[in-house]
Amino acid sequence: MSQDHRSRALCLLGATGSIGVSTLSVAAHLGIPVFAVSAHSKVDLLATQARACGAKVAVICDPARYDELKRALAGSGIRAAAGPAALEEIAAAPEVGAVMTAIVGAAGLPATLAAVRAGKRLCIANKEPLVMAGDLIMAEAKASGAAILPVDSEHSAIFQCLENHGADEVRELVLTASGGPFRTVADLSQVTREQALKHPTWTMGPKITIDSATLMNKSLEVIEARWLFGIEPERIRVIIHPQSVVHSMVSYRDGSVMAQLGLPDMRVPIQYALTWPRHEGGEVGIPDFAKLVALTFEEPDTARFPSLTMAYHAARVGGLAPAVMNAANEMAVAAFLAGRSRFIDIFRTVEDALSRTPALRSPSLSDIIAADADVRARLAN
Ligand code: NDP
Ligand code: MG
Repeated sequence: MSQDHRSRALCLLGATGSIGVSTLSVAAHLGIPVFAVSAHSKVDLLATQARACGAKVAVICDPARYDELKRALAGSGIRAAAGPAALEEIAAAPEVGAVMTAIVGAAGLPATLAAVRAGKRLCIANKEPLVMAGDLIMAEAKASGAAILPVDSEHSAIFQCLENHGADEVRELVLTASGGPFRTVADLSQVTREQALKHPTWTMGPKITIDSATLMNKSLEVIEARWLFGIEPERIRVIIHPQSVVHSMVSYRDGSVMAQLGLPDMRVPIQYALTWPRHEGGEVGIPDFAKLVALTFEEPDTARFPSLTMAYHAARVGGLAPAVMNAANEMAVAAFLAGRSRFIDIFRTVEDALSRTPALRSPSLSDIIAADADVRARLAN
């Protein structure tokens, strides 16, 4: 049996989040050594995790918490570090074989790039950097030889359905979406934060849970799929599948359709990203097919959820549009979560930001970072 994954020490960016906690569970189950863990501000949880998994380094992104982290790690032999530059350092450290990106949002971009440039096995949960700068990240991976393994359940499904087949054989990629908590709610103008945070099938961090309620998560995933699989957006289709059992599909030119199925538990795609090309024994069972009453599919309602239309527009326009869409969405979701705006304001904010996108055909990384900052500065006022 291949034990390769046990010799690839892991750098886990965003250990204290939903994907981070599931990744630590998978790593413990598989016996994967953890070299480094990071968090933004949850010092106590980070220190507890670092001690439990035997990490050598723990990074707290908020520099103001450095002393607190040092105190929490006193006597453990674990090195404490702080600040965004420390994330890039651990992502590229020579001791590290695989990097799991489980930070939320654009904040994960510099460390994602550091890992890819260092040629690590890059397990990508943090989709926002791919949306912002997917072509640059994929080009860096080609140059460094970094293997890119999708963790997003839909992209893991497509990756598995595609193995050994080329984009020229594909008719279309079919991304499934649960439809979120408001799939059957006609009027979205009055929905609350609490309702939006109750996802029907998945348990996830707050930002992606709101993105699932607006279908912006699927919008980001269309652009993520475009870069991961090199397939133009016109051949990427979204279909609502409320049971979240079929995680996505690939239809081929000859009429054959491949689907990947499983329980809605992120430990499955996390584990496959770490053990690929092998499926090792895992902690998660399989759906009880005899008890599945139905697997249903329906068209998304783009009138109530205009985010999907915006994503195809941004993908077609290219340039800075996906980064602008992402930044506006992050700001709009933060405002909604803080109780400063309504659910439907998210759509308006993103649409307005997209309409102001500066025209630039092949932006550099610094153009993208500047556009992201501009949108945030404008929406912060
Ligand atoms: P969470 O909000 O649960 O966790 C986010 C993690 O990132 C935490 O460790 C947090 O630290 C850290 N973090 C937050 N902001 C920053 C920052 N500015 N700089 C550095 N670190 C930061 O998110 P999820 O685990 O739900 O999602 C992580 C990523 O994975 C997202 O991009 C999401 O879209 C993607 N994803 C998630 C899925 C899921 O099931 N949750 C499924 C598919 C994709 P702290 O705890 O200290 O704040
Ligand atoms: Mg997903």
